[in-house]
This record gives sequence, C-alpha cells and structure tokens, in this order.
Amino acid sequence: MINSQMTTREIISWLKETDETSLESLWRAADEVRQANVGDQVHLRGLIEISSYCVRSCRYCGLNAASPADRYRMTADEIQDAARAAHDYGYGSVVLQGGEDYGLKSQWIADRIRAIKAETSLAVTLSLGERSNEDFALWRDAGADRYLLRFETSNRPLYDNIHPPLAGKYSDRQDILLHLRQLGYEIGSGVMIGIPGQTWDILANDLETFARLDLDMIGMGPYIAHPGTPLGKGENLIEVPADQQVPNDELTTYKAIALTRLLCPASNIPSTTALATLNLAEGRELGLSRGANVVMPNMTPVQYRAMYEIYPAKACLNETAKECHHCMNNRIRSIGRIPGEGRGDSPNYTNNHNS
Ligand code: SAH
Repeated sequence: MINSQMTTREIISWLKETDETSLESLWRAADEVRQANVGDQVHLRGLIEISSYCVRSCRYCGLNAASPADRYRMTADEIQDAARAAHDYGYGSVVLQGGEDYGLKSQWIADRIRAIKAETSLAVTLSLGERSNEDFALWRDAGADRYLLRFETSNRPLYDNIHPPLAGKYSDRQDILLHLRQLGYEIGSGVMIGIPGQTWDILANDLETFARLDLDMIGMGPYIAHPGTPLGKGENLIEVPADQQVPNDELTTYKAIALTRLLCPASNIPSTTALATLNLAEGRELGLSRGANVVMPNMTPVQYRAMYEIYPAKACLNETAKECHHCMNNRIRSIGRIPGEGRGDSPNYTNNHNS
C-alpha cells in the first residue's frame, strides 16, 4: 500500500526500500499527492536568523550554550530591512528563527512582529524555542501567524538523551505544539533524519506522529554532525544495532519526505537547507519533486551567517539574500514549478478552520 492508510510495518518497509523501480513509484505517488493537495506553487519563506544566543544545551546543535561560538543578535532595523526585502521579492512569509534566547525580550519580539505587520502583508512565522505560554499569547496578539518547533524525535528516551531540559523545567514539545494550535497559530514541527539512536521504528513513529498532531508544516533534514557538540564528538550515544540505526543520508531523507506527503497530504513541507547541504547541485529540486512544496531562502545578513552554525558547511553560507532569491526562483522554474504567490497558508490549517 502506498497512501495515507499505510501501516507502521509498511512505512518501515518503505523507509528501508532500496529497489530503484519501487522507489520511483514512491516518488511518483508523493508527487501526485503533492500536486493534488497543494498544487504546483512553491512557497518561499524568508529565513531571518535573528539571534545565535541560546540557553539550551541540545546535544546535536552547534548553538549549544556550552560551545564557544561567537554570538550575535540582529537589531530591530536589520530585522525590518530583511522583512522588507522578503516582501519586495514577493515572498509570502518570513521566519524569525533563533536560539532560545531570553535576551530577546518578549515585548521586543512583539514590537518586531507589529512593525513587520504594519509595513508588509507577510505572514510572520516564529521559531524561537520553548518560550512561556505568556510569550506565545503575547506574540499571537501582536499578529504572529505560525510557530515552528520541531519535536526532534517521538521517542522519549532518545529525546531525553539529545535534548536536555532547562533546570527545573520539563520539556514536552508535542504538548507545546498543541497549546500553540489552541492559540490559533499554524503549527509546524519535524525531526532530523539519522540522528544517532534513531531506529527505523522510531522514525516510522515520528512520521505517524506528524499525522496524529495534524501538523500544518513539517520540516525534515538530515542530521549533520557538528564537531563542537557532544553528539558530534560521539559522547554518550544511545547505541543501537547497526542494522537498526537510520542513516543520515540523502536518500533516506527523500523517503521520509515522500512518506510524510502521503501521510499528511495537505501540509506545507519544505525542501530544507540541510538537504541542499548534502547535495548542492540538486538536493532542493529532488526534495521538491518527491513531496515538498516550500523553500526557505536565507535572508540573514551575510556577516552573521557563520555565527549561526547549527551544523557545519551549511549550503549557500555566503550568498546574499538577493543571490539566494534568484537562485531559488531559477531552481523552481527549472523543474516546471511556479514561485508561490500570496502568504501560502497551509491548506491543512484552512480546512480545519473552515469546518
Ligand atoms: N531554537 C529553535 C530553532 C532551532 S534551529 C528551536 O529549538 O526550535 C532549527 C532546527 O535545526 C532544529 O529544530 C533541529 O531540528 C535542526 N538542527 C539542529 N542541529 C542540527 C544538526 N546538527 N544537523 C541537522 N539539523 C540540525
């Protein structure tokens, strides 16, 4: 079976599939479901990485509070300029992303949202980690439309291994996502593919969890080891038998994207920068041809890029927003697709809110 009714066993078997003819049928099925549900437009989200400060010590991430990286915060003017440029390029949304940085004051973020909303018609997406319910409500009142928070893995022991909580605080990202939905946000989540300790069973359960949470946006990219992080150094890994460990490669990522499209037909799914990092020549295009319908060109001022090193050798690190814009548009058109118009709201969200 190759549709939204796949059993766990079938999902696992597809994730492990290596036969090229069978995989062609998976790509085709995902592409058809993508076209039928979200059409040929590829929505562009301007990614603005507003701060590299972070209080957390996620063991996979280069922004880990314990790592010695140089840090920056963008100024209000820099954020507004980047948002204006995204609007001028015709993008539907900007994503304000950063480490979990309490130096980004709640009210200051609310002011940034209001300023962007006052000057542009952009949908504003936030991705600022596990902030308080008060902050989420304040930002929603200020006009924020969407929130991205990957749950990283649906397996609790693995989650605890890779994503230590702040002292005295329990971390439950799935719970936060449900709360964000109640506040009226479009909610986005996702996982890394091939993080150490991720088995086929766990990844299949991750994909089923996307469907259960009824996500509006789902982001997936390969895990890329950062040598400055505990996981990158191989410390305290959860050991699983080699034939059970999901590889962090390109092909497995495409399979996860295609299966996610089948399980969550109306969600917005990006072809991620992490994927382009593994295959700069055509990773983005292959993601878009195998289920994805969104790309996130980087709008962060170039002088900050190297300081937002969640993983090393990120694709297009030194390309200006303008270069990124032209490159993305060409890539989209080269595969017969159309750069998106308007905000690109998730049909999943729209369906739920009209019914
Ligand atoms: N502070 C925010 C944004 C984090 S960066 C938050 O915690 O939600 C966005 C995503 O990058 C993370 O959710 C994670 O899935 C991904 N990421 C982090 N480190 C990575 C790595 N080494 N390889 C690949 N993806 C990584």
